[in-house]
Amino acid sequence: RADLVRALDLIRDIPDFPQPGVLFKDISPLLADGAAVRAVVDAMAAQAGPEVDLVVALEARGFLLGAGVGYARGLGVVPVRKPGKLPAVAHRIDFQLEYGTATFELPADVLSPGARVLVVDDVLATGGTMEAACELVERAGGTVVGVSVVLELAALGGRRRLAGRNVHTLLTV
Ligand code: IMP
Repeated sequence: RADLVRALDLIRDIPDFPQPGVLFKDISPLLADGAAVRAVVDAMAAQAGPEVDLVVALEARGFLLGAGVGYARGLGVVPVRKPGKLPAVAHRIDFQLEYGTATFELPADVLSPGARVLVVDDVLATGGTMEAACELVERAGGTVVGVSVVLELAALGGRRRLAGRNVHTLLTV
């Protein structure tokens, strides 16, 4: 659809961020445009399939998209957070990033065992972030029925890392 094509066209390249030699894909202009963010969120919500009970959204840009997807589908949203933010933690996981390591935490008492979860983030690069989030969901007894991102950077191999998972993307570069 024309709205979605225009929305994805708003993603811009920022050279040398966060490190020299890295080309960062910046979705800020897309998020700042009302028609664009609606087109993207609606497309993510529609792609996900009917079998989702709960959205899990990844800090921080995943929150913006995941909240929209939850609203569009009438589903609750659980934030996966960086450490030190949550008053009660169900599970914690350390994982590798392209440059360094990171930690995610899942809040206590909000993900029921057996919940069918859609995990939402903005960009899939190496897949380490998404893989860690999926593992957190599974440690809590949830089933990851899909992962959804706006943009997949195919050269970084995220899809291989998520082999066997149902990966939804709106744009692959
Ligand atoms: P991965 O773990 O290597 O797949 O990196 C994905 C995570 O890093 C996501 O949470 C993204 O928000 C962030 N990320 C990595 N590369 C980019 C980029 O080019 N633009 C925006 N976010 C990125």
